[in-house]
Amino acid sequence: MKIETKCLHSGYTPENGEPRVVPIVQSTTYKYNSTEELGDIFNLPDRHIYSRFSNPTVDAVEKKIADLEGGVGAMCTSSGQAASLISILNICNAGDSFISTGAIYGGTVNLFAVTLKKMGIECIFIDAESSEEEIQAAMKPNTRAFFGETLANPALTVLDIEKFAGIAHKNKLPLIIDNTFPTPILCRPIEFGADIVVHSTSKYMDGHALQVGGVIVDGGTFDWTNGKFPEFTEPDESYHGVVYSELFGKSAYIIKARMQLMRDFGAYPSANSAFLLNLGLETLAIRMERYCKNAKKVAEYFASSDQVESVVYPGLEGDVYYERAKKYLPDGTSGVISFTIKGGREAAIKFMDSLKLASNEVHVADIRTCVLHPASETHRQLTDEQLLAAGINPGMIRFSVGLENAEDIIDDIKQAFI
Ligand SMILES: *Cc1c(COP(=O)(O)O)cnc(C)c1O
Repeated sequence: MKIETKCLHSGYTPENGEPRVVPIVQSTTYKYNSTEELGDIFNLPDRHIYSRFSNPTVDAVEKKIADLEGGVGAMCTSSGQAASLISILNICNAGDSFISTGAIYGGTVNLFAVTLKKMGIECIFIDAESSEEEIQAAMKPNTRAFFGETLANPALTVLDIEKFAGIAHKNKLPLIIDNTFPTPILCRPIEFGADIVVHSTSKYMDGHALQVGGVIVDGGTFDWTNGKFPEFTEPDESYHGVVYSELFGKSAYIIKARMQLMRDFGAYPSANSAFLLNLGLETLAIRMERYCKNAKKVAEYFASSDQVESVVYPGLEGDVYYERAKKYLPDGTSGVISFTIKGGREAAIKFMDSLKLASNEVHVADIRTCVLHPASETHRQLTDEQLLAAGINPGMIRFSVGLENAEDIIDDIKQAFI
């Protein structure tokens, strides 16, 4: 099936007489006929036990997203933050380190630099444009993974996924990619060598600003038996001695994440949330196409305006990442534009407060146009140095183009500029 068809049909195929739409299974638990049968499911979790690990509605959505990304399995989480956290904790323990590019989502910077540090895991931040030698030099003997964002929020830099996959694999380490902004409609990082993909489904996947959520997709591509990952190849005493790489093969990573970390942290979404996420996914392909089309028009308008110092939109000819975007994001670079207004922080706030159609909110990738001022909102916890590393200027505005008519969006911008 092509991707548009997968959006509608993957993950759930009703049998004769069954509901056409994925049903909401609102139950914490599942009944079995015998103690032995239920016990067997603990050994091989191929059916549902308890809705902290899995649920039929969430399961359908997980299968759909795994199929969209081209992975062997997926696990939904209650937020994008939980997905990023679990994606790392499933590999790194206290005493380990991992490498991440600096241009990533502000919340992820905080999670990696502050909270994981408290847990004894070091994140080594590097510039995504560093040479292979520089990246190699930044690595430590305890480095266990690489992390980056396909299209960084909010810097809109495009990651050279193949370069990072090459370096990671040369060192027998996995590459984790946050693919939130492109969604699998615009880029499928596993096709470029990524091993694990994470998303905040709160953004385009849900699309309607209805519920916060996340997902981890396992590409099934990484060899966890290469000697660097004993947690995959030695018995897990907390889970009756299972050896994940032996019992689960290509799905070892995602099943370990579920049976160890989801079991202990419980950051699983509700069936209702998954149902709503699925509605968003059904129209994802058609929505992404329109977001890209609208954003290109708005970006071209910003580029032509004398009130604008600079525009960052990788889909715009002349953008630093235009050529790379053609390779990784050939069908468009999402609806998110960032631009720097002339007049700095003050002018940015005045512009934001004058918009009538676009709303000022801490969100992005909504169906409705929305704007955000990173320096005074999402990224206010970052130092100036970290702000610059994340590619953020005080006059920068993140403009998330929605599905309204592009002319109405541009008219709103024009009146706010005056
Ligand atoms: C929003 C976002 C996150 C965090 O997701 P939540 O669902 O808000 O927890 C992570 N990565 C990126 C790129 C994001 O845009």
